[in-house]
Amino acid sequence: MQFEGTTYRPPVEAESMLLQVTVGCAHNQCTYCNMYDDVSFRVIKSDQIEHDLQEARQIFSKAERIFLVNGDAFVLSANRLKKIAQLIADYFPECKTISMYSSIRNIQSKSDEDLKELKRCGINDLYVGIESGWGQVVSHIKKGHTIEEAKTELARLNEVGINHIAGLMLGVAGRAKGLENAEHTAAFLNETKPKLIWAGTLGLFEGTPLSKEVEKGLFMPASEIEILEEEKALIRSINLENVPFYGIHPTNTLPVFGILPRDKQKMIDAIDLGISRLGKDALSDFFKRASL
Ligand code: SF4
Repeated sequence: MQFEGTTYRPPVEAESMLLQVTVGCAHNQCTYCNMYDDVSFRVIKSDQIEHDLQEARQIFSKAERIFLVNGDAFVLSANRLKKIAQLIADYFPECKTISMYSSIRNIQSKSDEDLKELKRCGINDLYVGIESGWGQVVSHIKKGHTIEEAKTELARLNEVGINHIAGLMLGVAGRAKGLENAEHTAAFLNETKPKLIWAGTLGLFEGTPLSKEVEKGLFMPASEIEILEEEKALIRSINLENVPFYGIHPTNTLPVFGILPRDKQKMIDAIDLGISRLGKDALSDFFKRASL
């Protein structure tokens, strides 16, 4: 199987078979991101995808879940995605779920009928980078959508029964704004009802526009203690039934996992315990995160 550029997949897809359908990210403008700076966006040709599936069939005895690589694979047209889903069904008839990363704009470009057909083809779990539920924050980091657009598009997914996983970025609002960000983000999640919440932490990676803002003193990163307090406030304010909160990511200072609302207090206590073990002094600055 061929993979071009660095392959990123969500931690929860560790057991899934990966199939590359695009190279890079079509948006490639989020100001904190350098994941695909080394490649230009392009679509993988159908014959390459079929070749990879033939090869994969020799390697995998079973693949019930397939994750389409790369940065915003749902950018592909509904027709192209349906053809890929058909190829998957030909080679892996046992596959129950096809998942991938999607931006809000990728959903916007599909009609309700497209979404219904994609759901019928097994495309079900979309990882949507929400990062924050606060309008001024998503505009600052150039996510490419407004909060109102995000609410509209996620409601469309919910309407046709396509699950989405909300990707969040703790610390993204900057210094002294974490608690307010948590309030906006929890309200957003409560309204948009993700199947799973996945929280990472802002990293300042070399060469990104956001790193340059920090160097110029235009953006003040939140301290680690602020970020953990933000995570606690977020968990406290989420009001959803039976939704996993997956706060495990290489960028996170402390791993946190639980099912909401059942494990709400347990997760808050785990963060408090982590803070007391690490000590507030050690958490008073922003940690350098080298990469994702
Ligand atoms: S964060 Fe995601 S959508 Fe934004 S530029 Fe990076 S890969 Fe693309």
